[in-house]
Amino acid sequence: MPSFDVDDKAAGRDPTETSSPQSQSSVVHQFDESIQTSSSPSTERGFDLDRFEFPDDDELAELETSTSTERPRTRAAATPVAIAAPLPISSPSNGFDANDMPVFYQRLMPFKEIFNWLNHFPSPTPSFTNREIAFTLQNDAYLRYQAFPTYDAFKKEVVRLLPSRFEIGPVYSANPRDRKILRKAAFRPLEKELVFDIDMTDYDEIRTCCQGTKICSKCWTFITVAIKVMDVTLREDFGYEHILWVYSGRRGAHAWVCDKRARVLDDSKRRAIASYFEVLKGGALSSKKVNLRRPLHPFIARSLNILRDSFKQAILIDQDPWRSQKGAEKLLALLPDRELNDELRKKWEMYPEEPSLQKWADIDTLAEQGVSSTLDTKLLMEAKQDIILEYLYPRLDAEVSKHLNHLLKSPFCVHPGTGRVCVPINGVRPETFDPLDVPTVGQLSAEINEWDSIHKASETPDKEKLADFEKTSLKPYVEYFHRFVSNLTKEEMRQKRQRGVEAGESLDF
Ligand SMILES: [Zn+2]
Repeated sequence: MPSFDVDDKAAGRDPTETSSPQSQSSVVHQFDESIQTSSSPSTERGFDLDRFEFPDDDELAELETSTSTERPRTRAAATPVAIAAPLPISSPSNGFDANDMPVFYQRLMPFKEIFNWLNHFPSPTPSFTNREIAFTLQNDAYLRYQAFPTYDAFKKEVVRLLPSRFEIGPVYSANPRDRKILRKAAFRPLEKELVFDIDMTDYDEIRTCCQGTKICSKCWTFITVAIKVMDVTLREDFGYEHILWVYSGRRGAHAWVCDKRARVLDDSKRRAIASYFEVLKGGALSSKKVNLRRPLHPFIARSLNILRDSFKQAILIDQDPWRSQKGAEKLLALLPDRELNDELRKKWEMYPEEPSLQKWADIDTLAEQGVSSTLDTKLLMEAKQDIILEYLYPRLDAEVSKHLNHLLKSPFCVHPGTGRVCVPINGVRPETFDPLDVPTVGQLSAEINEWDSIHKASETPDKEKLADFEKTSLKPYVEYFHRFVSNLTKEEMRQKRQRGVEAGESLDF
């Protein structure tokens, strides 16, 4: 029986830890506890194609029927032109400066780890070599169906093209570059991580602290809470273990569920999982987005418990959505009893601008005073549960999750609007992540130059030489990613060995 108790996770948190301001060491600390350090697989072996597991025939048949969902793009793909990478230059700017990108790609982007993450094996396998990479160039041209034989070739091309970002698509049944010379049936998407996208845009109708592309620590709480709910659900209800959360660089987060079981899901199963998470219905204009049957499904009940912890501070105090008279009417529209509503309205007209925290408390106070002869207290309690869900339950861009061949921006890309790196977020302790603390490419460029100018290469003994990322505030994020990938790779190797034993192969792997 799956446990729906989240307290064991909560108990593991350090209550003294604050999310902001956050030093690099506290970033390291937040990462250290949830993912155990493990060494990379050390034995390099040639890849045995026979051992590579493709989906079985039934799965392939299902994949065949899935429809292609290439994202509609209006931009034309242009033939890339060779761009000479300028020499590393110092940039004093914080934020984004295209001049910092060559340094970033040459010295900081963890290509080897990205390769290990996608490949699940020390030497190249079709998991990597048949994986679609799509580049968005700086002139906005969009280059799809790129694929690379090694991480080195991948890195060389990125350094040559200096794309503003690149996206990761599925593993195909053949090399994506060959798709035009292949029969249609020979070129099919086989695998991709199950992905989720949470974006602040979907919270714009309820957040009051910022608008548009702006974020602050108050509204980031929406994303933090969403990650908590999603992460525990994916682990406890679906049994997934290898979930990578990544900051989108501005105002959202992506989840990559990397378990083998998740990667081979076809579109219909992806749709089913997306609909499992769908609790809020209707667009921005619908007055009530939550219509749930009682008793609540255990997953909703558990989610509600998580949301309740944050509701007072995040909604009642920080967002304060019902302070105005217009806001108060929105709250009343979600309450079930007319007589109680009339009394609440009367009270709030006497005290205009009463804060949401007080208004929320007034509901119970007046209900307990017996101001309504028709009040059904159970219905009122359920309405209050629905309000908590409506204001805090994760708002997902479900389309992203439904299709095997949907592309998603790679971890460690740089957001061109903010210059911030799309770093991993610890999904078990998301409250320790502060997006405003994430290094920008300009800052990293300055850090690496500063380190180099203090530590002259010729004077540093070889054994003390650091990898470039270790000279910068990107270090804890790369290390976290490394541990994540190591754990994933270990699990893949274990499963491969297991399948080998079941197939009667020798244990010499
Ligand atoms: Zn805000």
